[in-house]
Amino acid sequence: MTKGNINVSVENIFPLIKKFLYSDHEIFLRELISNATDATLKLKHLTNIGESKVEYGNPQIEVKVDKDAKKLHIIDQGLGMTAEEVEKYINQVAFSGAEEFLDKYKDSAQDAGIIGHFGLGFYSAFMVADKVEIITKSHKDEVAAHWTCDGSPEYTLEEADKTDRGTEIILHIAEDSTEFLEDSRISELLLKYNKFMPVPIKFGTKTETLPKPEDAKEDDPTPTQEVENIINNPNPAWTKQPADLEEEDYKNFYRELYPMQFEEPLFNIHLNVDYPFNLTGILYFPKMSADMQIQKDKIQLYQNQVFVTDNVEGIVPEFLTMLCGVIDSPDIPLNVSRSYLQADGAVKKISSYITRKVADKLKSLFNNNREDFEAKWNDIKIVIEYGMLSEEKFFEKADAFALYPTVDGKYYTFEELTNAIKAKQTDKDDKMVILYASNKDEQHGYIQAAKEKNYEVLLLDSPIVSHLIQKLETTKENISFARVDGDHIDNLIKKEDTTISKLSEDEKTSLDELLKEVVPSEKFTVQLEAMDSGASPFMITQPEFMRRMKEMQQTGGGGMFGMGNMPEMYNLVVNTNSELVGEILNTKTRKKQERLINQSLDLARLSQGLLKGEELTNFIKRSYDMIK
Ligand code: ADP
Ligand code: MG
Repeated sequence: MTKGNINVSVENIFPLIKKFLYSDHEIFLRELISNATDATLKLKHLTNIGESKVEYGNPQIEVKVDKDAKKLHIIDQGLGMTAEEVEKYINQVAFSGAEEFLDKYKDSAQDAGIIGHFGLGFYSAFMVADKVEIITKSHKDEVAAHWTCDGSPEYTLEEADKTDRGTEIILHIAEDSTEFLEDSRISELLLKYNKFMPVPIKFGTKTETLPKPEDAKEDDPTPTQEVENIINNPNPAWTKQPADLEEEDYKNFYRELYPMQFEEPLFNIHLNVDYPFNLTGILYFPKMSADMQIQKDKIQLYQNQVFVTDNVEGIVPEFLTMLCGVIDSPDIPLNVSRSYLQADGAVKKISSYITRKVADKLKSLFNNNREDFEAKWNDIKIVIEYGMLSEEKFFEKADAFALYPTVDGKYYTFEELTNAIKAKQTDKDDKMVILYASNKDEQHGYIQAAKEKNYEVLLLDSPIVSHLIQKLETTKENISFARVDGDHIDNLIKKEDTTISKLSEDEKTSLDELLKEVVPSEKFTVQLEAMDSGASPFMITQPEFMRRMKEMQQTGGGGMFGMGNMPEMYNLVVNTNSELVGEILNTKTRKKQERLINQSLDLARLSQGLLKGEELTNFIKRSYDMIK
């Protein structure tokens, strides 16, 4: 047997780190600013606990582009490094000084907001630079150090004459990365990753207008001055306590996050936990108009105020990705694949915490100001209904605030709805049928008919409503939903109707035969009903089950795929008590009878929006001929 050590030489690994450590080269700036921030926060901590005697002051981080010399500088006023520390922290790849610091100051520094983790961030500089220099002066009374490395494992370390505390990192930008010498590109990156970092970041200057002096003349130019351009807000709203924030602060923060969004958010949810995991953030329900496509990827994920990603899939439950805002948690493992993430215990807890918080907030909004909640219902229902469908826990909680509006603009909770129906329903033991419409205009006639019979009619018009109804039917006992133009409606009307048929049995038989010959049987099932003489003579209804399955097929999910295409089948309900039907029977010639039937059938199809194309053109022509 032979035993040995695999020989891993640094020469081989270094280029690998450079190439594959991060897929996105642009994150080098985030890493270096994170290190500068860490250095500043560490110093803050050390001065706080009395371990460093220097004056902390108001440290900043400065980013400078020197386009001519092809250099990018990142300068901080943090704790700096001694030559010895450079050897220890920089020359040892994959040794994290940040973790060491947290370890050493376990008891006091947990909340210091230190970002670093893996001891690899610094080397991301070599993704864009072919030479990197560090000039650093420690807060300890020692001479400054100057480290230089050209990306090979060799480096030089010598003394430097820097006198002020802190670290300057100089990147000699490589030929293939000159984009990072453009002010606009750097400013774009700073705004993307560092907009809310805790230490002020200075990049260039900006022009500020000054108030005009008292004695200024009308057409004197407005005075301006060049001031430092601080690109970040070091104290974003989500890092504050909810008790310290007003409604207006939340709105302002929304504007800060989405400067291009002009609509105000409907409401916000402030997340704030520190046990069993650390999570802060603010989520907003944006206003979602029906025609606007639902926007995803509007939630930004941060770790200790450093932007990480706007893809929160796997961390936030799917239905809440329609919201926007910020989540900040150092406890989300991000160096793993998304599928692993979904199985991670901590992430699962975070996801269910967020769901619970959102449900609680909705409930309290509903309880505190129902009127306002109802007014917003149309804008928030998609999220809520989608949540009810996809998260069992949310479904249970939503019972307290999910609303079922009627066609008349009344809003019921599910419990209120069933009570209202019970109060109207005569035979108590029967399964309760909840009538709904999906479009007030298209189903106007049917809604009218149902209301005349004293039915409560809901207006359920979200695209996923057929799924939701299906879910409610299987979860709640003894209820079923039926659309007003579905096939049940004639049953309902008939059941309460004491109308006696005007036709004799013989007349019925001959009507039935006549209709079956004229009406195409592959499309319509003819049904004779003795209804009020005032009700429509011909009415088209669609079997509830069929229609719903079709809708579910179209909106996807629920195992509805692969059911094949459902045939279009309709019922043609003919009111045998209507005057028109009497006339059809009494008309002498067969040709005239057929004309009456076809015209009536077309009218019924027209009222259901089923008459289209050539058939519609023919119908209109025929109708003009008739009134000539
Ligand atoms: P990490 O941040 O995960 O610890 P890095 O590779 O980013 O790893 O940095 C390695 C170490 O180098 C840091 O932990 C820190 O000790 C030191 N360091 C890097 N940049 C600075 C800086 N600007 N000021 C002081 N120390 C720094
Ligand atoms: Mg780092």
